[in-house]
Amino acid sequence: MNRPIDRRDFLNGISVGIAAGLSGFTRAQAQAGPPPSQDDAAGYPPLRSGLRGNYPDSVAEFDRIRQGSYAGVSLADSDSAEEYDLVIVGAGISGLSAAYFYRNALGPDAKILLLDNHDDFGGHAKRNEFHYQGRTFIGFGGTMGIATPYPYSYCAKALVRDLGVEVERNPEFLNRVLEQKYGLAAGTFFDAEHFGQDRLVKGNPRLPQFFANAPLSERARKDLIRLHGKNPDYMAGMSRDEKRARLAKMSYQDFLLNVAGISPDALPFFLGNGGRNNKRVDTTPALEAAGHGLVGFNGLGLELDQEFNEASYLFHFADGNASIARLLVGKLIPGAFPEKQSMDTIVSARLAYDKLDHPDSKTRIRLGSPVVRVGHVGPPDHSTRVGIAYRYNGRLYGVRAQYCILACYNALIPALMPELPLPQKDALAYPVKVPMMYTNVLLRKWTAFQKLGVSRISAPGMYYPGTFLDPGSTAGGYQGVTTPGEPIVFHMVANPNKPGLPRKEQNRFGQQELLSTSFEHFELQIRRQMARMLSAGGFDPAEDIAAITVNRWPYGYAYTYDTLADPDLPPEQRPHVIGRRRFGRVAIANSDAGAAAFTNQAIDEANRAVQELLVLQGLT
Ligand SMILES: Cc1cc2nc3c(=O)[nH]c(=O)nc-3n(C[C@H](O)[C@H](O)[C@H](O)COP(=O)(O)OP(=O)(O)OC[C@H]3O[C@@H](n4cnc5c(N)ncnc54)[C@H](O)[C@@H]3O)c2cc1C
Repeated sequence: MNRPIDRRDFLNGISVGIAAGLSGFTRAQAQAGPPPSQDDAAGYPPLRSGLRGNYPDSVAEFDRIRQGSYAGVSLADSDSAEEYDLVIVGAGISGLSAAYFYRNALGPDAKILLLDNHDDFGGHAKRNEFHYQGRTFIGFGGTMGIATPYPYSYCAKALVRDLGVEVERNPEFLNRVLEQKYGLAAGTFFDAEHFGQDRLVKGNPRLPQFFANAPLSERARKDLIRLHGKNPDYMAGMSRDEKRARLAKMSYQDFLLNVAGISPDALPFFLGNGGRNNKRVDTTPALEAAGHGLVGFNGLGLELDQEFNEASYLFHFADGNASIARLLVGKLIPGAFPEKQSMDTIVSARLAYDKLDHPDSKTRIRLGSPVVRVGHVGPPDHSTRVGIAYRYNGRLYGVRAQYCILACYNALIPALMPELPLPQKDALAYPVKVPMMYTNVLLRKWTAFQKLGVSRISAPGMYYPGTFLDPGSTAGGYQGVTTPGEPIVFHMVANPNKPGLPRKEQNRFGQQELLSTSFEHFELQIRRQMARMLSAGGFDPAEDIAAITVNRWPYGYAYTYDTLADPDLPPEQRPHVIGRRRFGRVAIANSDAGAAAFTNQAIDEANRAVQELLVLQGLT
């Protein structure tokens, strides 16, 4: 367990000197941009390992913004050396799409600046790279895939197609070597803390012999076999509508314990279950669990339509939707890629980060630049300019623009723009983003998995309940992994939460946990969990782990409503609809503005925000 792991410069995020003064702008440098870096990882963010995602420096300003430290910044006094047609706050899929739509509408001469607090663009769509033994291994640090055709809008589908992504070619690129060549299957790790002893059980829980091998009490075993088979009608005597109404108002946990009548001993088996929007067994409405295909409902005769099937991801690159973000950047910034990218090259192509904030480009992306204050210069009704204050390298800068799109976390907007009307600020503050963690572990080899016959292991109740080997889709020119002696990325998923609390409280708890946990602690959890799950196959963390990248996302998925935790409001009264209203020259995008945590929503909200500004300009 003691061998040091290569975490290169995980502390090398762009440092924001919090001791620097808060008032007084520094003259914005027309040529400003992230300073050229000396070593490879510093100049090429995907290579950074250690603590990534919302890494500490990227969110260091958020508390000060929320506490009102920048509310008094006078935007009228800001230096206006830099003027843009449009400034976009947030360079995730939504911000990048907004730039793309605006540029398409106004032509390539439109001057656009994107500001983002991270040292890489893409927001949740984050690429993790490892260079090891002369080869590049790639994983997704967040947003993984495109679900299509449902529920993509025409606009979102058209954007994906314009970028050159041919989703229908997916079968050509699937890397099925783990299952097809080596016959690896799914497994479940029962841990001593929840089940009395550590044991890895291979196979499908829907088959009765699966539970025969699991460390369970006789009662729990019987209950789980019943739930995973054909269930009786636990709600006999009720009409279908009555059943639906009752299920909408109880949690999946209540359904399992009180309606299906399982013993509390069996409940830990469901601890890893993430329902829609990563809800847990105690926060997922039972009706949603039924729609999600979770067990226990097949005797109720509900005839559920596929209302929650957005999660059926059909397509992803090895770096997930980071390559969608990269393709967008390639369209926006000349020279970002050496040549035109396609489905056969995009993943392997190296993006030139030194081109992102180049004075010769009409569109510029400035990273490491948390925006701390946004407002109209003068009264919003008559103003012709928006002022935007941001921090860069520990100093405060200002830019002005004719228009602004806030494609950042919506819940932060009331603090960025105190001039917004109170009902809008209240609405923006309603959601609590879902904390998540995607960890990529580079393994030197995966012979232990081969020996145990598993490629994915769920571990209910453990720190990372979801884990799997990721040999990499070969789309975009990625080589992918094919033999057990080769290095491979092992992907681990955690959703910190606090069972028993209401959903938003659980989200807040998980956010704090992620924000206050050190990389060393995560690393220890990873090593310990992997050792316990895989030691029977000869896995040795000290020998087998080559590098770790922890993508912590305290500000993860957009919050979505459900029948258990949120009031049933008419669409126009829902908080995200009130919250995203255009205010003067400022429009609001991001998937938060659609109350749906998906790439298509991020694109659709970008399109709506751009349309609102075009209408204001009399252009549509
Ligand atoms: C771990 C994870 C996995 C996911 N998997 C999928 C998936 O497989 N498929 C799918 O469709 N969706 C997935 N999602 C949902 C994902 O949120 C959306 O698909 C999409 O990437 C969101 O894009 P966005 O631009 O709306 O938001 P973000 O990606 O969050 O981008 C917003 C950007 O604004 C920046 N920002 C915030 N405040 C400021 C500020 N003050 N100044 C400057 N910048 C600021 C943020 O740091 C961020 O970079 C996943 C999300 C997570 C967290």
